[in-house]
Amino acid sequence: MPRAGVGQLPAELAEWLRYLKEIGVRDLRFTPGALAQAAPPKPPSRRPGVPAQEEPPVSETAQSLDQIREELGECTRCKLAAGRKNIVFGVGNPRAKLMFVGEGPGAEEDARGEPFVGRAGKKLDEMIQAIGLQRSEVYIANIVKCRPPDNRDPQPDEVSTCSPFLYKQIEAIRPAVIVTLGSPATKTLLETKVGITKLRGTWHEVRGIPLMPTFHPAYLLRAYTVENRTRVWEDLKAARARMDQAQ
Ligand code: URA
Repeated sequence: MPRAGVGQLPAELAEWLRYLKEIGVRDLRFTPGALAQAAPPKPPSRRPGVPAQEEPPVSETAQSLDQIREELGECTRCKLAAGRKNIVFGVGNPRAKLMFVGEGPGAEEDARGEPFVGRAGKKLDEMIQAIGLQRSEVYIANIVKCRPPDNRDPQPDEVSTCSPFLYKQIEAIRPAVIVTLGSPATKTLLETKVGITKLRGTWHEVRGIPLMPTFHPAYLLRAYTVENRTRVWEDLKAARARMDQAQ
């Protein structure tokens, strides 16, 4: 049987294959494993017979995301409050199986009140799509919810004041997998001083949830090498496979 070239595939699939090649995927073989990675996302698992709107919270004891947002209020608990336009709480599916944790809002996120909407956000969207998911299916949050001035790293007092809200979000969602983006998020959730280069690509755990650290999309934008793209792809593929196992 003649083999179809990319030119003969449906436009969407051809575009997706070109994208995977572009981000450094080198092992796209149509083995059952590869197909599982490439499969469109399964609908979120639901208790049989319970319509989505009536589903109980993921954990009966955890606060809901709305309650956590309400408790955060118009927060002035740390010095970042003085310079912010908007609190950037988090966005996505409250029942997400996959949660991404970044560092802190930048200028565009501060202006719009939503995480990862600038250049790094576009790259993150691509990363999410590369593993067969949409942004609306995952949950995205940061370790601090207000913009650090001049995009500096969040300082220890800011992180220790704000991170309890992130932990509450994690407890509310109880994702199957967390992916930390870059050093500050990874160091915070793993309570370590070890940097991202050493930690990425290896499994860890926070609150009993598997955690995979990977490079921050902003770093990828700066260091857009085939090696780095392949590393991130490997990390995300592992996260997607672990997420699928948990369904
Ligand atoms: N970088 C982050 O770490 N978080 C954002 O929300 C945006 C950029």
